[in-house]
Order: sequence, then structure tokens, then C-alpha cells
Amino acid sequence: MDKTALNAFSQVTQTISADLSPPKSLWQKELAAAWRSPAELLEHLDLIELLPSVPSDVQEFPLLAPHSFVRRMQPGNPADPLLRQILPVQSELLNTEGFAADPVHDQDASPLPGMIHKYANRVLLITTGTCAVHCRYCFRRHFPYEAAPRSLEQWDRVLEELAGDRDVDEVILSGGDPLTWTDSRLQKLIARLAEIPQLERIRVHSRLPVVLPERVTDELIAALTSTRLQPVFVIHANHGQEIADDARNQIQRLARSGFPVLNQAVLLRGVNDSVDAQAELCRRLINIGVIPYYVNQLDRVQGAAHFEVPIEEGRRILGALKDLLPGYAVPRYVIDVPGQGSKTEIVCDLPRE
Ligand SMILES: *Cc1c(COP(=O)(O)O)cnc(C)c1O
Ligand code: SF4
Repeated sequence: MDKTALNAFSQVTQTISADLSPPKSLWQKELAAAWRSPAELLEHLDLIELLPSVPSDVQEFPLLAPHSFVRRMQPGNPADPLLRQILPVQSELLNTEGFAADPVHDQDASPLPGMIHKYANRVLLITTGTCAVHCRYCFRRHFPYEAAPRSLEQWDRVLEELAGDRDVDEVILSGGDPLTWTDSRLQKLIARLAEIPQLERIRVHSRLPVVLPERVTDELIAALTSTRLQPVFVIHANHGQEIADDARNQIQRLARSGFPVLNQAVLLRGVNDSVDAQAELCRRLINIGVIPYYVNQLDRVQGAAHFEVPIEEGRRILGALKDLLPGYAVPRYVIDVPGQGSKTEIVCDLPRE
């Protein structure tokens, strides 16, 4: 072949191979387009004056926020509760006593890479280190994700271990965020799990329905309900303002697909540390069919000390919810105490006059 013919040939093969790679779905495109530059994000939000307060050395946990989530922020508001969850700040670099890289001792409870087994009947799988958003308070921000299995074949060891444990009846897909997996990959793992007779339920913990609502599709719901395992879905919203626009509609769609959908929040200084904020979050959740499950006391991870609300204050805030909401809408206030057989509930009953 002469050179021109060769060029033409390679152009054709390039086009063909481009056509053969599966088309990216909308949510994958949205994830690829997420905000990653603090300067561009702050410019967009009319808050460029905050730029000097953003540290330049957070490369191992950089800014990441999808467009949908950012659309729910209020431009010009430096104290926006959604912005505060994702904007890196100087306080993250402080080394605060009592705050550690692995505050909940996940590493001590990991019999195999990719698997955390703390509670007798349920096992948590670290499906990936990838998330659609980087929450600045995340307790797994220093997690050694490199070690987790990468291919479905590498999951064989984990599945074997699970098959040998008669006590486990529930598997929790966590991460990172399991919904950054494609539907077909999720479906394949769930199908393999369904072959283990003692498993009854598959639980998914994901922040994507809130931060990247495009991820909720019929194909996803089909993948979750494709086996005999009962799905349970736990979303993660911290503030009522997150339950708006497309997220509101897509989460409601998820909740109407028939399996339980619960919410888990973290009590965060400057985000949801008031009775009003907590009550409004719970109301917005139950209005779209989501049951408030837990409000977690902050895990004391390095870099998140500025988010901590003392437990006594947390008890006052969450204790006030009972008089404002239907009983089923009141979340339990819990803390992860290493070495315990379950989360520890913090009782919030206020003294009656
Ligand atoms: C929190 C957690 C669970 C789930 O606990 P629930 O109280 O059932 O929500 C399971 N495994 C690990 C390792 C956990 O940290
Ligand atoms: S989505 Fe979850 S795992 Fe990912 S950064 Fe946020 S809190 Fe951490």
C-alpha cells in the first residue's frame, strides 16, 4: 500500500474501532465533565474571592463535583451548605490530635482486599475507589483502594470467602461508589452473589442518585432487581437543598421502583448543624419516599476536624426532631465505635419539663 492509501486505511480502522467501543451513557459523560478546577468552579459561582483559601496541595483528594450538584448551590453564597461539602480548604491540612487516617479501623476488619467484615451477618465490599464527588469529610479519604480487586475474576477470592461463611446473609456494595460501575458489571457481580445460597439481600450505598442523578436509569433498576436477592438502597444526602431539581425526581423514581430506599447523613458543622436543617432534610426525603435511616457522628478522619459537631450538641439537635416529624421520619443518631458488633446509637431523648 502506498502512503496515502495506508493513511486512509488507518483512518477507516480508527473510525471503526471508535464505533465499536460502547457509546458512553449520559451519566458517564456527566461524570467526565464534572468540575475539577477550584478556580473555574469559584468563577462560575461568582465566588472567586474564595480562591486564596483553597490549598494547592490536595492532589491525592482533589476537588470533584458534578454539574447537577453544583446547579443546586446558591451563586454568591460563600457559606452554601453544598459548596462547603466539596470545596477544599486550608483547615484540611491541619493535623488535629485524635484524628487519624483510619478512624473506624477498617483495616483490622479486612480478611481480604476489597472486603470489610465487622458485623456478624453483613459484609461490606469495597467495589472501587472511584466516586462521583469528593466529600471533604469522607472517612475513607485515606483508604488504600489500590489493593481492592479490579477485575471480576479477582473478585473470585472474595466470593469464595463469602460462600464459606454461613452467617452472612447481606452483602453491602460500598466503596468509593459502587454506582460508578457500569450496569452490566454490577449485574454480573450481583448474579454471582445470588448463587451463594445463604445470601438474602444486596444493599447498595451510593451518593450518585444525589450528586449525579443521571445515574438512575431503568437499566440500573433492572440490574438491581435481576436476581432473587432483595435490594436495599441507601442514598447519602446531608442537606435539604440536595433534594431538589433533577435529583428530587430521580430519587423519587428510584424509591418508586419497589425496594426500600433509605438515607444516611453525616452531622457536619456549617452544613446541617441545626434543628431546622435536619428537619427540612427529613421532610424532603419522606416527601419523595425515602426513609431517614442514620445521622452519623463524624468519623474522626485526618483533615475533617473543622466539620466536627460535639456529641452533646448533636443530641440536642437530633433530640428536637421527634416533636417536628412523623415517627418514621426521625433518623437514628449513631457513631462507629471500633470493635463493636454494630453501630452504636446515641440516645437523644430530651428531658421533659
Ligand atoms: C456501617 C457498616 C455496616 C452496616 O451497618 P448497618 O448498621 O447495618 O447499617 C456494615 N459493615 C461495615 C464495615 C460498616 O461500617
Ligand atoms: S461519595 Fe462516599 S466514599 Fe466518595 S468521597 Fe463522598 S463520602 Fe467518601
